[in-house]
Amino acid sequence: MFKQVTIIGFGLIGSSLARAMKQHALAGKIICADMSRDVCEKVLSLQLADEVTTDLAKGVKGSDLVILCVPVGAMSAVADKIAGSLEPGVIVSDVGSVKKEVIKSLAPRLPKKSHLVPAHPIAGTEHSGPEHGFAELFHHRWCIVTPLEDSELQPVEKIVKLWEACGSNIEIMNADHHDLVLGITSHLPHLIAYTIVGTATTLEEDLKGEVIKFSASGFRDFTRIAASDPVMWRDVFLNNKDAVLEVLQRFTEDLTALQKAIRKQDGDYLYQTFKKTRDIRRAIIQAGQAN
Ligand code: NAP
Repeated sequence: MFKQVTIIGFGLIGSSLARAMKQHALAGKIICADMSRDVCEKVLSLQLADEVTTDLAKGVKGSDLVILCVPVGAMSAVADKIAGSLEPGVIVSDVGSVKKEVIKSLAPRLPKKSHLVPAHPIAGTEHSGPEHGFAELFHHRWCIVTPLEDSELQPVEKIVKLWEACGSNIEIMNADHHDLVLGITSHLPHLIAYTIVGTATTLEEDLKGEVIKFSASGFRDFTRIAASDPVMWRDVFLNNKDAVLEVLQRFTEDLTALQKAIRKQDGDYLYQTFKKTRDIRRAIIQAGQAN
């Protein structure tokens, strides 16, 4: 599908993509460009790429596809480093969890003769780094592609085909809508998990010990989400500020309503709310998105 692909940022997502591309023979050659020497050494020893380099500009030379898999806050610095070395006609894509700010960071920095096609695979784990990636990560998961208004059709189709070949289902969306939807389904739940687990860290030592001991009663599921990469999530909240604040406002109102129902002993309100949320869980299972 591609002659030579450079993946910049070879962590969980970048390395999973490289594994999937190898498995399905989607690239003649895969280059790992990561500013971390440690990551490059791991990639070499795991044989995940044909070449590795910490020099990002050198790493993109000769590639017909470059995919940025770095934290959202690092996108503009990476674009500045590679812009002068990109081949004419190259497709530049990314996997960032936020789209509007990433497009703002990349579009003005990339050369006119390149094609920017942003995308976001809705797949991941709480682990980071190349050793935790796996080729099947994207199987039956959605990948949202957010083309720009003036994007040419052919590069968009190529990115769609790439993700389909990695096992993803594709949805095309505009970046604003993506950021609002993901604000609800991903960013808000992470913020809540960080808050709940964060509260536990401020408890007195003996109470904290009991929280860990009896964690299976609900807390444990939040700790998995709250163990997600701190750099990645710091950047998500800083770069999807408006959408997160909007959904947080709605969440706060709903929380206050539940608080009021508990105070007023309004069992019917609590029951109806919990019944509706159980239906959502069942719909997710039916859609095959539960695991
Ligand atoms: P990760 O495992 O931490 O990998 C990020 C990699 O990028 C690391 O190797 C990191 O090196 C490297 N890096 C950081 N800044 C860089 C820079 N300026 N230049 C070159 N390399 C740089 O993170 P990830 O989970 O794969 O996430 C990568 C991207 O995917 C993020 O934009 C995230 O929003 C998006 N995403 C993540 C998930 C998920 O669940 N994890 C899901 C969908 C999309 P160091 O280790 O040395 O910092």
